[in-house]
Amino acid sequence: MMSDPGIICYQHCQKKEKVFSFKLPEICNFCNVELSNTELRIPPFRVPYPFKDATKEMNTVVIKPTYGDFLHNYKNSTDLHIGVTDSKGFIYEYDVNGITRSKNETWLQSLPIKVIDNMNSLLKHHWDEVLYIVYNQDSWTAERYDSEEHNCYSFVLTFLKSLHLQDLQPYLYNKTMFCQQFVAPQARIAAKYISLFRQLKDQNIVVQ
Ligand SMILES: [Zn+2]
Repeated sequence: MMSDPGIICYQHCQKKEKVFSFKLPEICNFCNVELSNTELRIPPFRVPYPFKDATKEMNTVVIKPTYGDFLHNYKNSTDLHIGVTDSKGFIYEYDVNGITRSKNETWLQSLPIKVIDNMNSLLKHHWDEVLYIVYNQDSWTAERYDSEEHNCYSFVLTFLKSLHLQDLQPYLYNKTMFCQQFVAPQARIAAKYISLFRQLKDQNIVVQ
């Protein structure tokens, strides 16, 4: 699974459009000036790669496509799988095979979803304890799994509810409310990056 492909952004003579590419072209596509010998309006900077290795994201909610990875396989937010990490980088997830706790490498290209702003050490400890309790509940068996009614979101929402944090409760009522508040904004950032990446596989530059 690939990591940061290194998309850069720059601007030469144009005022409005920004140019994206994997490396700085030899000449400007607007004025044909040699770019290595000229000053750029916006010098090349690296577009932030939004995906993270979930095992290095502690005490957070993480999402990834149900099948494959974001850059190559992601279509839209309906096919996202969700899990939770603890303070040691273990990923807890519930799917058709039941509940698991692992450092599975299918989470190498995942998107962290920040649900709590200020995680202090007390809260991290509480998070770990509650996560372990919910993980050990009888509900998360392969037999009880249902792709609509009892799925990965059920597990994550049950866990988050069990934290009993006032600020979080209003968004935990159902999957739709949770996704609107926390998942959709992150998925939009991811979708922009994915779109750039896929266009740059077919063409040298993207002008936006
Ligand atoms: Zn130019």
